[in-house]
Amino acid sequence: MVSIIRKTDEMFASTAKYRSQGKSIGLVPTMGYLHDGHMSLVKNSLKENDVTIVSLFVNPTQFGPDEDLDKYPRDEEKDLSLLEEAGVDILFAPSPEDMYFPDSSTYVNESTLSLPLCGESRPGHFRGVCTVVLKLFNIVAPDRTYFGMKDYQQLQVLKRMVRDLNVPVQIRPCPLVRESDGLALSSRNAYLSPEERNSALALSQSLKTAQTAFSNGEKSAPALLNIINSILEKDSKLKPEYVEIRDAHNLSKIIDEISSSVVIAMAVRVGKTRLIDNIILGE
Ligand code: AMP
Repeated sequence: MVSIIRKTDEMFASTAKYRSQGKSIGLVPTMGYLHDGHMSLVKNSLKENDVTIVSLFVNPTQFGPDEDLDKYPRDEEKDLSLLEEAGVDILFAPSPEDMYFPDSSTYVNESTLSLPLCGESRPGHFRGVCTVVLKLFNIVAPDRTYFGMKDYQQLQVLKRMVRDLNVPVQIRPCPLVRESDGLALSSRNAYLSPEERNSALALSQSLKTAQTAFSNGEKSAPALLNIINSILEKDSKLKPEYVEIRDAHNLSKIIDEISSSVVIAMAVRVGKTRLIDNIILGE
């Protein structure tokens, strides 16, 4: 049985008890509306820890004023049954009022890796992410925590935060999970009409095409970006916000030849829905 905990002080006391029994704790932070991408993180945590805690919190501080906080998809009952089936121990689902004091005035700001890409189009987003994730780490005090490479920049920003602030947790990156036709799994895919979903396939297809060109010897970043942009341009329903090639570790922009491991990252609007995708080259 999954125990549901909604209060931060109860969560704190519960993990303190597990820790005193010498049990290892894995934390999987999510915003719910769970899919196989989330569940792959959960499975890794179940394998590596005595106790697995999944948090479900649609964090208001990481949404901008014109973003989709209010309509973000939610289905706690279905989430609970997936977690039950997987054998998760605790679902931590606090309310915003329980997570944030009304006069909260302290935030965590990573000031380099969070600036480009999604940081540029979503000002304040990573400040909200870092703040809530550090709060979750303090409340749960996990030994290990699991993040998906779907949100590649988020993963790098959080690794930097943990390093810089000496947070005693191991971050375990997990591979990006796709549908069989290539679409990256995302809770926001629920917003897509069938036509939009079809258009959205161009994101992964363009990344795959670039990957093939790279394997065949194309090492020029502008040439690879051209390949991607020419595929995205074919569909007027797609409005790219950014498509960039960056160093996979420090996220510095690659403007000419690729000579290290890189990430090709993109954010594209499909109708009103903003989707992100990425691929790593040269691992
Ligand atoms: P979210 O609920 O969107 O905040 O995501 C919670 C966690 O699940 C984050 O670490 C995401 O990177 C991860 N995640 C979401 N979608 C995927 C996916 N398709 N593959 C792997 N991890 C994912």
